[in-house]
Formats: sequence, C-alpha cells, structure tokens
Amino acid sequence: MRIPFLDLRAAYRELQVEIDDAVHRVLDSGWYILGPEVESFENEWATYCGAKYAVGVANGLDALTLSLRALGIGPGDEVIVPSNTYIATWLAVTSVGAKVVPVEPDPATHNIDASKITNSITRSTKALLPVHLYGQPADLSPIMSVARNYGLKVLEDAAQAHGAKYQGTPIGAHGDAIAWSFYPGKNLGALGDAGAVTTNNPDIADKIRLLRNYGSRLKYKNEMVGFNSHLDPLQAAVLRIKLRHLDEWNSRRKHIATKYLRELNDTHVALPECPNWAESAWHLFVIGSPKRNSIYERLSMEGIGCLIHYPIPPHMQEAYAELNFNPNAFPIARKLADEVLSLPISPHMNLDTVDEIVENVKSAAS
Ligand SMILES: *Cc1c(COP(=O)(O)O)cnc(C)c1O
Repeated sequence: MRIPFLDLRAAYRELQVEIDDAVHRVLDSGWYILGPEVESFENEWATYCGAKYAVGVANGLDALTLSLRALGIGPGDEVIVPSNTYIATWLAVTSVGAKVVPVEPDPATHNIDASKITNSITRSTKALLPVHLYGQPADLSPIMSVARNYGLKVLEDAAQAHGAKYQGTPIGAHGDAIAWSFYPGKNLGALGDAGAVTTNNPDIADKIRLLRNYGSRLKYKNEMVGFNSHLDPLQAAVLRIKLRHLDEWNSRRKHIATKYLRELNDTHVALPECPNWAESAWHLFVIGSPKRNSIYERLSMEGIGCLIHYPIPPHMQEAYAELNFNPNAFPIARKLADEVLSLPISPHMNLDTVDEIVENVKSAAS
C-alpha cells in the first residue's frame, strides 16, 4: 500500500529510543510477571481516565470477560449489547454463559440507541454493555439513568476510546467497570496483547485483581476460581511511554478527521455525526455509502489502505449460528455492515494525503 491504513512501525520509530530504554529496564529488572512496571502503568492509566483504580489484564477480551465475572454475571443472566460491534463484545458475554440481547444503533452515531434499551429489558437483564464504537462515546447519560431505574450494572467497552470524553469527562469512570484493549492498532497500543479495567469501585478492582491471578492474593492461597490474565510488564513499560504521547497523537487524528469532515461535506457519503457532548478519540474514520464496495475497490487499486469495520454483524456470524437469530432481526446493523468503510486516520500519516484519498472517495461515490 502506498498509503497504508495504519503504520505501526512508524509509531515505534517515533518513540524508539524511549521504548528501547523502557524494554531494557524491564529485561534488567528480573521481574517478568506483574510487579512495579505494571503497578506504575495502572496508576498512570487510572489517573488519565479519572478513575480510582486500573487493573492490567492480558487483553481487551479478558478485560470484558473478567469484568462481567466481577459483576457477578453468568448463566441465566441477560446483557444488553449493541447489534453492531466487534464480536469480542458478544464473546465476553457468551463466554460467561450469559445471553446477549442486541439493541440497534443510532445510524448517525453508530452507537447503541439509548432510547431503544428499555424495550429490551426483562426480569433477567443484569447489565448494559455499551461500546464507544470507532472512538466516539456512546450517550452515557440516558444509559446510566436506565441502569439506575432498573438496577442494572453498566460495563463499557472502551477498546476504541482511549482519550475520548463524554460531556467533558474522560471515558473511564462513568459505568461500574470500563474495559480497555491495548491491542497494537488501538489509539494506545502495546507491542503485543494487553488490556485493563478501570473502575471507581474498590470491590470490583479487587475481584479483577484476584481473577487475573488464579484467584489468588497470596501465593498458593486461592480464594476463587481464577484465570491467568496478567498484563505483561514489558507491555506495561511500553504503554507508559506511549501514554505520554496519547493526547498529542489523538490531536493528530482529530486534525485528519476535521479535514475529512470539511472536504467530504456535501458529497454522497455519510459522515460520522459528532454530538456536541461527545469528544471522539477518532480511532476510526468511518464513512457510509451504498457504493461502499466500489469505493473500497477504487481506493485499493490506488494503493490506499482502507478497511471495513465490520463486514458481518455478530448475529450473522457462523460462530453464533446456534443462537438462531433471524438475519433480518437487526436491519440497521446489517445495513451498516454493507455500507461502512474506514479511511486511514493514523497519527503517522501525512495530512496532505487526505486530499488524494478524498478525491478518490468522491469520484467513486458519485
Ligand atoms: C479490540 C476490541 C476488543 C478486544 O480487544 P483485544 O485486546 O483484541 O482482546 C473488544 N471490543 C472492541 C470494540 C474492540 O475494538
């Protein structure tokens, strides 16, 4: 690709000296599971998110799964999820034995339509699991008030929302637990798998600390049936370096988004709608068009990397065939899967390439 969708090597090169130093510090320390690097990152990440606690885990899927377990969700329980999301959101719910209850998104923001949630609540509903999709915060205020009215827990999937803000407050401490992924391609990305949970609730933080470590606080004393899901200190050291650059890298993303929004205004493509209470982290810049496939082919032919997030909604995935969803049960999710296209928005792309990308999108979309 002439213009790659994402250049992870460029991100490493920008911080190579600092990252190499940090990695060597861990190698020299002799401490390779949990320990001071992980604790320091946890403190720094909690502070960044405005949360009291952060607990590092192995990846974003574990952050979601362990959060559900810490919230006491399991077989017989229902969890409300968006009908359009990365499958990990659903996998966490089904892996603890609970039932996914999908709710359609607002097609303008791509996020769960809070006004449709109450219709899907039953006596078995235990939690709401909004996703801040593409980096844009979901509308948390009505979601939190539904949760209060019905006595439900709120777990946020913030895997795409590092640095996003809702009504001026960072994502990371609104719900009962907030699950983060530091997969390399995320806004804050490690050099391998990594994840975390943030929360203001000391009991939830404590449970996740136990769950990630075999259910153990003291070596060889096991209080609960746990897992092995540690945040690797090498990754924690890398994340501490990258965290110092997150705001600057997010502001580069915002510049690119602003330019796309300006140059694609008044064209045939649907643009991401940003409510005034939302500050997006611009993880992805997602346009929509019935001519999505032509635009995709045109950009690919021109050597411009673009991706589809996501081409098959979870309810239509083979993995969930046994849930027997009607393919037409969630028409908005289905339409989005047919029409969305993510344009390059990495902090390491040249702002000037936006013009060329836009010209190609326009001519293929008209
Ligand atoms: C990346 C992602 C996850 C999973 O994170 P991993 O670290 O890859 O396990 C979960 N939910 C969403 C919305 C994601 O984008």
